[in-house]
Amino acid sequence: MKKKESESERKERLRAELRRDVDQRRRSYRGRALELFPHVCGSCGREFTGKQLKELTVHHKDHDHTNNPPDGSNWELLCIYCHDHEHEKFHMKGRRAAGSPVFDPSAAPLGNPFEGLDQILPAEDKGNEPQDG
Ligand SMILES: [Zn+2]
Ligand SMILES: [Zn+2]
Repeated sequence: MKKKESESERKERLRAELRRDVDQRRRSYRGRALELFPHVCGSCGREFTGKQLKELTVHHKDHDHTNNPPDGSNWELLCIYCHDHEHEKFHMKGRRAAGSPVFDPSAAPLGNPFEGLDQILPAEDKGNEPQDG
């Protein structure tokens, strides 16, 4: 009976270990990037030490968070501000490159809702227009 208990305990322990392992791996690219690169923002050059280090984040150059080559070739350390900026730039660029509908007045049909009104209005109505004094 004790044996059965230890078995489930073992499973529980293994599961916990596995979970921790996954957790570590998920977090590891930041730790690895911090090992690989100097703790300096790649954009503004600000240096980070101690508690400030948490403001230094790992940016994925190709913006693919699952692309984590161990040599760090896809990573760039950026401070949170420059990181934000970097993503804004990327989104702007992406939007333009995607060729999503940009308002182009020359391409848009300049529909005049009153066009052709002359033909619709009976000719006699025209004659009855009040004359300016
Ligand atoms: Zn920065
Ligand atoms: Zn990023």
